[in-house]
Amino acid sequence: NSNLNPSYRFENFIEGDCNRLARSAGFAVAQKPGITSFNPLMFYGGVGLGKTHLVQAIGNEIISTDSSKKIIYVASEKFTNQFIDALKNNNLQDFINYYKEVDLLILDDVQFLREKEKTQEIFFHIFNHLHQGGKQIIMTSDCAPKDLKGLQERLVSRFKWGLTADLQAPDFETRMAIIQTKMHADGISIPDEVVEYIAYTVDTNIRELEGVVISLIAHASLTKREMDLELAKQILKNIVTDIDSEVGIDYIQKTVSDYFKVSQDDLKAKTRKKEIVIARQVAMYFSKDYTNHSLKSIGYHFGGRDHSTVIHAVQSVNDMIDTNSKFRFAIDELKKKLKIRTA
Ligand code: ADP
Ligand code: MG
Repeated sequence: NSNLNPSYRFENFIEGDCNRLARSAGFAVAQKPGITSFNPLMFYGGVGLGKTHLVQAIGNEIISTDSSKKIIYVASEKFTNQFIDALKNNNLQDFINYYKEVDLLILDDVQFLREKEKTQEIFFHIFNHLHQGGKQIIMTSDCAPKDLKGLQERLVSRFKWGLTADLQAPDFETRMAIIQTKMHADGISIPDEVVEYIAYTVDTNIRELEGVVISLIAHASLTKREMDLELAKQILKNIVTDIDSEVGIDYIQKTVSDYFKVSQDDLKAKTRKKEIVIARQVAMYFSKDYTNHSLKSIGYHFGGRDHSTVIHAVQSVNDMIDTNSKFRFAIDELKKKLKIRTA
């Protein structure tokens, strides 16, 4: 009983710039577990970026080639609770032996062991035993080993013996691929412009992206309505936190265009009229400051402009703030209006 979820596989782990290194390290370990230079193998990165998927894919891959291999996947929280239970029930030795017998130990989210001195000690002991026996250890963490404050130094230094690879936030191309693959797997077809819109809008992590895709699929199968850009926008408004609850690009555009008495559409249009250009640049400036959108995404929301246009806009606004006191006043006024929403 390995606790592995059989649906986490390499076959359905989509590769992109954000995870290529981690994926190939994981794949190498799946082919030859226990190799010294890859032992331990540690993946780190923020929530929803594929750490659990990847480590379980390694476990599933090894089991599928050699079912006699003893593999245990355990979340650090569960490991801690098992240890506490073993102490209470006086069967610490069973607990230790159970983990000492494995060929591969996967310990997920080791940051959970922070400040848990006794659990760290027992893990240190098990780690040494497995490592000396050439058994593979794989771990994940929400931050780099050097930032694992609250973990014993001797433990952290062992994490650095092997290979460490980070999982990064998904880049645009990977987000596109994930949306397309997941839609395709469910037999849903949606227009490219909708896929693109989702990929631009949901740029935090893969878990959130998956949630959005699942909602769209559910919607598509419940209603008979064709999935077009309008419908996708409507659905996303209700599920993506960034879009409505915080200051979003849309709200910034409305506020800024109201203030400068131009229309919101003008901000996205091609027009080069001076007052519109200024309003557009100011709205880009606040989008950069108040949202988590990338430069590329901001450009997209302003009529498909380039990221360099956004950089230029931010620079122009900063220059005008320095040199023009009337403009500086306008920016302060707008800041107050926008802050009301953030608070
Ligand atoms: P983490 O452990 O880093 O918080 P998970 O491994 O739980 O993230 O991933 C969150 C969700 O996103 C899971 O459903 C997982 O299958 C999916 N996912 C993550 N990375 C990928 C990827 N590269 N390709 C396909 N699905 C992915
Ligand atoms: Mg996880």
